Amino acid sequence: MEKAAATSFVETTWESSIVPELIDYIRIPNKSPAYDPKWAEHGHMDAAVELIERWCRAQPIDDLHIEVVRLPDRTPLIYMETAPRSASEDCVLLYGHLDKQPEMVGWDEGKGPWIPVREGDRLYGRGGADDGYAAFASLTAIRALREQKIEHARCVVLIEASEESGSPDLPAYVDHLADRIGEPSLVVCLDSGAADYDRLWTTTSLRGVVSGDLRVEVLREGVHSGAASGIVASSFRILRSVLSRLEDERTGEILPKELKVEIPKDRIEQACILGAAMGDQVKDYFPFVDGMTPVSDDPAELLLNSTWRTTVSITGMDGIPATADAGNVLRPFTTAKVSIRIPPTLDPVKAGEAVKRVLEADPPYGAKVTFDFEEAAPGWNAPAMAPWLFESVQNASQAHFGADALFMGMGGTIPFMGMLGEKFPEAQFLITGVLGPASNAHGPNEFLEIAYAKRLTSAVAQVIEDHHRARG
Ligand SMILES: [Zn+2]
Repeated sequence: MEKAAATSFVETTWESSIVPELIDYIRIPNKSPAYDPKWAEHGHMDAAVELIERWCRAQPIDDLHIEVVRLPDRTPLIYMETAPRSASEDCVLLYGHLDKQPEMVGWDEGKGPWIPVREGDRLYGRGGADDGYAAFASLTAIRALREQKIEHARCVVLIEASEESGSPDLPAYVDHLADRIGEPSLVVCLDSGAADYDRLWTTTSLRGVVSGDLRVEVLREGVHSGAASGIVASSFRILRSVLSRLEDERTGEILPKELKVEIPKDRIEQACILGAAMGDQVKDYFPFVDGMTPVSDDPAELLLNSTWRTTVSITGMDGIPATADAGNVLRPFTTAKVSIRIPPTLDPVKAGEAVKRVLEADPPYGAKVTFDFEEAAPGWNAPAMAPWLFESVQNASQAHFGADALFMGMGGTIPFMGMLGEKFPEAQFLITGVLGPASNAHGPNEFLEIAYAKRLTSAVAQVIEDHHRARG
């Protein structure tokens, strides 16, 4: 691929065509089914599918087959394939999603989830970066190769619409389309993160997640706290005490051995390299209040903590009134939503069962303690990178960013990665994305760093070219 020509083609396509579409796309409140159970009735998902489908059909890729596949009672999926000839033919599978996270509060004045605002190279609004740009970037990468008459393998693009709900619909589509997809030898996922905007980043692992509601009941109804405290144990204190069986509350260290794994040596080495390269950036990624320090001074430890170790977060509570409404009452129960990130290689169902056993065993004072385990999604540890892909990623990073690529584990969960890893055990994976510093996917002020997305588009094109060359 001739770099200057590709860069200029990608630049023009982004500015004249993609950004205007993404501006319209951000306006659509197409929340994922978990956040909009009536999504089918509301029609926003269809509007988003239609917008992306229309744009894709307008691309001059003459052998591109585009189809919106709709299985009953599932969110739709956009299936695209270049030169559909035979599924036995080697292919590159590109993945993205078009469903969005909910609104969240805290957006800056003048900005909002469904209000597209461009400031310089940043396009603010929900779902531009996570992950609306993926369909546009995928086809633009293919077009960049076509413009230069560069050969590439058959490309399959899957744009699903249930990712933010844990991809419940994707397995059914992958099965439904199995004969058409065939066996990709390279999977490119455009839904991941970047630790800076200076290079191509590859995600090497993802944590899994186990979550559920921990409920502690002590009374049939609330009573005067003056009369009852000292006789009846507080449900909050019991909650604290059983949570302390999971983690040391002073350090956050996880205690049950069923929730730990031995971290692979190569991942420890990569964390050390990355920790040394990033230094304070590891912690500066987060909006700490003044005076607050991270849990360790060692950047490599922080990286390993957040990518290979189990951590516990309380993400919601019931049974506790807002402070303004709080009377002096010993409350009958407290329920906490416990969200537990688990190491990439830990079985989520076994982890969930261990958590339930630990929390429910021998309840203090015979209180009623239950853990209702509702979600278990696996993490994922990428297979070792083939030499051609390692070289291609480095070359693409040098060519389009002028810096070495870096490899990192991610603390979050992309449930379908475990699934794709299982379905295509022979495939190589390039897991990348635009969710860099401050881009704040899922939170307020989410933005797409347009300049980064352009470079990433060119880099993906180059990897697709290298894939074809390496595989013959
Ligand atoms: Zn996403």
